[in-house]
Amino acid sequence: MEDRPVAEAFRQYYDPYVYQGSLDENLKEARRLKRDTTHCRFCKRSREETTFKENTHLLSKLLGNYNYYSHDECDTCNKLFGKRENDLSRFLGTTRTFDHLVNERIAPGFESSSGQVGLKKIGPEVFYVYKKRDGEDFKVDINGGQAEINLDSQVYTPENVYLSLLKMALGILPEKNIPDYELAFKILQNPEIYPRTQHLRKACITEIGMIIARPYAQLYRRRQDLNMPELPQMLFCLSVGRFMFQIIVPGHRADDADIGKSFDLRVAPYIQLNLKETHDGIVERRFIEDLSSAEPVTKENKLHFSFGTDKLVSVKMDGLTDLL
Ligand SMILES: [Zn+2]
Repeated sequence: MEDRPVAEAFRQYYDPYVYQGSLDENLKEARRLKRDTTHCRFCKRSREETTFKENTHLLSKLLGNYNYYSHDECDTCNKLFGKRENDLSRFLGTTRTFDHLVNERIAPGFESSSGQVGLKKIGPEVFYVYKKRDGEDFKVDINGGQAEINLDSQVYTPENVYLSLLKMALGILPEKNIPDYELAFKILQNPEIYPRTQHLRKACITEIGMIIARPYAQLYRRRQDLNMPELPQMLFCLSVGRFMFQIIVPGHRADDADIGKSFDLRVAPYIQLNLKETHDGIVERRFIEDLSSAEPVTKENKLHFSFGTDKLVSVKMDGLTDLL
């Protein structure tokens, strides 16, 4: 409900264009189509120049998309994008463990950047935060009732987070639009050659107070009846966990002549898929995250809490023996 005004403003400029959030298992179908793929969608290499043996995901598997595969991504690109997606999962830090909801899969574990603190999900609402190595990052004072735990993310490169989002945007782009975005595909292969598009490497992040178990993505297209070159032709949104990332799809051929062009961003609303059972009041904040830097960084994340010391108990829990 709180995003209705955002949606109304947004729909004056953009139409929904592509939706991808299929939960269907399509491995067989994707493998069949892959046998007939002549060129990689991303790098344009032919079967003579690359291979198409790996199973490739349309949306990253690291985000919880286990079943839905693509058919036109080559193994060379899969390797390149896979490395970048590791940075996307590091950027998400502890949320991949805390917010894991897919019951049939074990939640990914987490290790802090210093390697001193570990985190595992061991039950529906039960998490195990533990000291992995000696150091200053895990301080629990049992007698004083104080805990200070440092769960900083592993080091990641912001630019790779952006490029992972762009890859998914270009992955769901309809084939007929691929020629319009030649430059965007080139940026994806060699971002360093296009420093003048660096100002577009940012995401508008909407943080919400509920968790969605599996990712879904949308492309929005600028309304065809509008002549507003200051608005980008295409916007991409990815919802995962408790976030929605929105980026501009750069490099449309209409803007080619002005590669360093700036755009106005229209904020996309947070969309709920289940209209029968809506949750209102879940949008917590919205902010722009600069993802242009190619320098490695870590995301600070500190737990600090107090607890009563008079009723502390020690419990033995199933599944923990291998950890202790
Ligand atoms: Zn390729």
